[in-house]
Amino acid sequence: MNPVIYMDNNATTRVDPEVFQEMAPYFTDYYGNPSSMHTFGGMVGRKISQAREQVAALINAAPEEIIFTSCGTESDSTAIRAALASSPDKKHIITTRVEHPAIKNLCEHFEKTGYRVSWVPVDRAGRLDMDFLLDRLTEDTAVVSVMWANNETGVLFPMDRIAQAAAERGAVFHTDAVQAVGKLPVDVKVTAVNMLSLSGHKIHAPKGIGALYVKKGTKFFPFLIGGHQERGRRGGTENTASIIGLGKAAEMARTNLTRDTARIRSLRDKLENGILENIPHALLNGDKENRLPNTVNISFEYIEGEAILLMMDQMGICASSGSACTSGSLEPSHVLRAMGVPFTAAHGSIRFSLSIYNTEEEIDFVLEKLPPIIDRLRQMSPFWKGGSCKAQ
Ligand code: PLP
Repeated sequence: MNPVIYMDNNATTRVDPEVFQEMAPYFTDYYGNPSSMHTFGGMVGRKISQAREQVAALINAAPEEIIFTSCGTESDSTAIRAALASSPDKKHIITTRVEHPAIKNLCEHFEKTGYRVSWVPVDRAGRLDMDFLLDRLTEDTAVVSVMWANNETGVLFPMDRIAQAAAERGAVFHTDAVQAVGKLPVDVKVTAVNMLSLSGHKIHAPKGIGALYVKKGTKFFPFLIGGHQERGRRGGTENTASIIGLGKAAEMARTNLTRDTARIRSLRDKLENGILENIPHALLNGDKENRLPNTVNISFEYIEGEAILLMMDQMGICASSGSACTSGSLEPSHVLRAMGVPFTAAHGSIRFSLSIYNTEEEIDFVLEKLPPIIDRLRQMSPFWKGGSCKAQ
């Protein structure tokens, strides 16, 4: 097997060796319970406090505004449930048509239980219809939940404008910032969100650890009711090693953000330009400018994304068609459908998402191997004939 060229970092990332090193002693040596009275446990408690400070610093929050959770999905669920519980008379939710299933399926669930949900549409470039959002936002809106950055296309949403509008109407504003944190400067003092979700495994910490930022003064109800952990806001003995890993990853992301972002963006641009210039009928999905620096989503018309993935996989190239959670089904992703990407293009979409571990040589390798793959698949496609679409 060829060495793996991993370009699926929006699905998950490699745990940074420094992060792993920081975590390791907390499995086998310092395994005390942070809630215990003895010094052995207290030592772990202090390390958790440090991790809380590190995560808070990454988004410019106060440490006590950070609640550790088991993942981005739990953070999202906790936020929406807390917002609804804090305004039991308000029966309206605003979210978008392009959210991750962690929000999309949750809001569909609440829709079935009697809430009214306004699903904000996007345009062909994945940009949010702000007029629609502002028009639907009323005093009856309990929560507005809009992702900071889309996981499939990387498109960014206008956080500041939404935060201001939600505040004016007295609605809680939550953002799923799982794909934004660690890739962009995120400052909750500048962008006035009430709650923000993040996830460890997208920023080189392990899977199974996340955090929820809850702005001081925001009404909160725990989702996991139990012990006094997390100041009673999330019961359950802490996932100590992973919390410590998340802290370290957050510190590294903050320290290296500017340098890493510039490098990743230039690799991404080289990949994107190389593909668009050398492969006919390849279309960029999503706003070219207002986008995460590591993400490019391209549709190769008239062929199946899954077939491209399989052939790339044989060469050791890992990418994704749609989000990891939706691949496995041949339905085009709900994000591309919401954007109105035509059927012949939506099926052939591939997302490449880069990280600090990608190299220029890897980009060159993909740019060399991909055009013949696309060409071969098109020769086999019933929709493709001699460089153009066959009449159907
Ligand atoms: N939100 C977004 C935008 C994501 O991309 C993901 C993961 O892909 C999640 C939420 C879920 O995060 P987790 O896997 O930590 O539950």
